[in-house]
Amino acid sequence: MNPGKIWLSSPHMGGNEQKYVQEAFDTNWVAPLGPNVNGLEQDLEAYLGEKSYVAALSSGTAALHLGLVLLGVQAGDEVICQSMTFSASANPILYLGATPVFIDSEKDTWNLCPVALEEAIVDRIAKGKKPKAIIAVHLYGMPFKVDEVMSISKKYDIPVLEDSAEALGSTYKGQKCGTFGPLAALSFNGNKIITTSGGGALVCQHKEYKEKTVFFATQSRDNAPHYQHSEIGYNYRMSNICAGIGRGQMEVIDVRVSQRRGMNAFYQALFKESNEVQLFMEPTADYYSNHWLSAIVLSSYEKREALRLALEKENIESRPLWKPMHLQPVFENYPYYGSTVAEDLFKNGLCLPSGSNLNEEDKVRVAKNIKAFFATFE
Ligand SMILES: *Cc1c(COP(=O)(O)O)cnc(C)c1O
Repeated sequence: MNPGKIWLSSPHMGGNEQKYVQEAFDTNWVAPLGPNVNGLEQDLEAYLGEKSYVAALSSGTAALHLGLVLLGVQAGDEVICQSMTFSASANPILYLGATPVFIDSEKDTWNLCPVALEEAIVDRIAKGKKPKAIIAVHLYGMPFKVDEVMSISKKYDIPVLEDSAEALGSTYKGQKCGTFGPLAALSFNGNKIITTSGGGALVCQHKEYKEKTVFFATQSRDNAPHYQHSEIGYNYRMSNICAGIGRGQMEVIDVRVSQRRGMNAFYQALFKESNEVQLFMEPTADYYSNHWLSAIVLSSYEKREALRLALEKENIESRPLWKPMHLQPVFENYPYYGSTVAEDLFKNGLCLPSGSNLNEEDKVRVAKNIKAFFATFE
């Protein structure tokens, strides 16, 4: 018999989601506004800390898009973006008719390389165009080099839009990811650490930013009895039904973080004695990852692909790392700064099943198959 599929990362309900959804139906708040939307925003603000103002939106991509709008990005502008990421980090730059400038990763966090970042800024300024914003990603939940990146942001006066879609619950020097830049995007897609089925949020350091985000997200309607518009609007607000799921999920966020970290500890134990495999880990105690996905780097592309196929045969999902944007057909003609760190990680890296809902039986199966794979090389 074919055993059940073990997913990379699947939705994991806490128990009270349907209660909030039922409340929405009972009170007829079946709309992109209502008590669950406000409640989820308050839950996130309480979780992230005092100075966070959160606008719940229809997706993480919408949050990144409005983040760039708020930072004044317009057609013809340049926006710096980490190359090794999901395409949703970069797509909103193109929605606005702006040009992405891609940056390599460094080896410690797999995120923005501060050296390549500064080199790019200096070069773009010399070429006559100062970048409007920096999109920095906390990949797989790992905080980027916050001190280095934020000090470059300050030195050149270019704001950081944090892509914290994968990093709810991660911290750097004790401070939550999503609170370093003036703006940060969260995602609650089905595969993220918590989900609203589909959804996202923009975290703002200033109240006015949140108000402006909600204004843009609800078609930029002016204060008038009729529909009047002085600015281009978007339909990006979160549904009150989805927000109900989010409220249930926020009740268990801390549990989910410890379960994902538990999966990472499971892989630490599994690969403790391996000289074939390098597990992606926090470089120092300053970094605390939610370990949304646990990832490994193998000694070659061939081995990585062989392991992926061996697991697939056993109905266990694994996935190559994000293919860098500067290597994507759709982005290959845009400027790129750095060397081959992201490219090499992509070649040899693999994400392993990391969900908070894997049970002991699943773990035994994963461990057994991974061990069997490496035993064939001994
Ligand atoms: C998931 C994700 C997004 C997009 O979020 P959606 O809610 O799916 O639109 C953006 N950036 C990164 C790094 C992501 O992982």
